Amino acid sequence: MLLKEYRMIIVAAVLVLANIIWYARNRRRQKMLAETALPPDATQLLTDNVPFYKKLDDAGKALFEARVKDFLANVKIRGVGVDIDDLDRILVASGAIMLIFSFPDWKYNNISEVLLYPESFNRDFGQDGPNRDVLGMVGDGAMHREMILSKPSLRASFASSTDGHNTVLHEFAHLLDKADGATDGIPEYLLARPQLIPWAKLVRETIGEMKERGHSDINLYGTTNEAEFFAVVAEYFFEQPEKLKEHHPELFGMLEEMFHPAGGKS
Ligand SMILES: [Zn+2]
Repeated sequence: MLLKEYRMIIVAAVLVLANIIWYARNRRRQKMLAETALPPDATQLLTDNVPFYKKLDDAGKALFEARVKDFLANVKIRGVGVDIDDLDRILVASGAIMLIFSFPDWKYNNISEVLLYPESFNRDFGQDGPNRDVLGMVGDGAMHREMILSKPSLRASFASSTDGHNTVLHEFAHLLDKADGATDGIPEYLLARPQLIPWAKLVRETIGEMKERGHSDINLYGTTNEAEFFAVVAEYFFEQPEKLKEHHPELFGMLEEMFHPAGGKS
């Protein structure tokens, strides 16, 4: 054999070996993450802080814990300029899982990391200067697999779980909306095809009514655009379902079909 051919064989062998090592390391890392993802007092933290979990039966609780664990094994939660603890991690994961709990096989494939900031921030992710009114944001461009939440807002979302506001649900609702490629307020994976047009029409009409009246039981931030409307009504649906049903039965009905499909657990 020629020297050149020997070289090629050696290069190929090294590449194969490097791949095997990478694969083994990755497997080990995944296994380690899965084993350490859930803190030992997770059950207590969930019981004390997440009413959605507390209302589930034993089988539902076990499933919720497993999904929180899986989420934390795949999405890194990191404090930026602020210390975070197990409760912060549990709360982020809980908000994420609540939205997709009726879909046993669903995972968030469009996020790698959630950053927690000490306070609200501005639209350029700055923590100083004016316009620091953002409590949460799904990143775009270079930040496209990142989410930022203000830690105080994360805690407040669960400290008061029936006031209609939950920043975690809001931001993960944007990710569900974004999963079909467009953050446009039409979460195509959550809706059956014939419902897409009626949903878009209902959203447009409700935004129009809200703008005309200038006030609403739905957060007026929802009039910004269809995507924000979907995120604020998702918060409303999970936090105050009875109130939403009473004031907006049609909207409630469609959201119920999205988040609790027939046969789904909730
Ligand atoms: Zn939003």
